[in-house]
Amino acid sequence: MIRKLSLVIGITAFILILCATQILNVGATSENKNNNGNEIIEEVGEIVYNGEFPMPIENFTTVTSKFGIREGHGVVSSNHTGIDLCGSLGSKVMAVKDGEVTHAGWQSGYGNCVEIKHTNEQGNTFYTFYAHMRDNSLQVTKGQQVVTGQVLGIQGSTGNSTGDHLHFEIRKSSGTNKDTIDPAPYLFTEKERW
Ligand SMILES: [Zn+2]
Repeated sequence: MIRKLSLVIGITAFILILCATQILNVGATSENKNNNGNEIIEEVGEIVYNGEFPMPIENFTTVTSKFGIREGHGVVSSNHTGIDLCGSLGSKVMAVKDGEVTHAGWQSGYGNCVEIKHTNEQGNTFYTFYAHMRDNSLQVTKGQQVVTGQVLGIQGSTGNSTGDHLHFEIRKSSGTNKDTIDPAPYLFTEKERW
């Protein structure tokens, strides 16, 4: 009788431990999500400088479209407000400078995108903008402070895009299509200029 009882107690204890492990696992999973509810990726990516700013895309391979007038891209707008950079599939998108996130979310045409406000050494404000990131990959939220190389999301093709790439802009003021400048001189040396 006592043996049976201890067996029952043993089995009950075993089940309780199993349940506790499950609960702990669930807790661990939610800790791996960020404020967007997305899976947390490594916080700061590999920082590679060719110019004044590091590359905003991991494993950079090529420029698929330059800033300015489009050379036939099947896109309605003839004026390209940024530069299109390609990394390998699933590459991380990273902040080029410390700053504050002024937009993080969906924007028509740009898909999942992030805008960051920076202040340069002269105390002037400018913005960088990162578009077309993969669904459920955004790592930052509006108002958040970020550092150089901080992972913002994963390269994707959301919004008005025909393939995985990062559309990167440098803006003089916040918002869409306002006072953008060519990012190429900030990303590449003169020799490497695309
Ligand atoms: Zn573009």
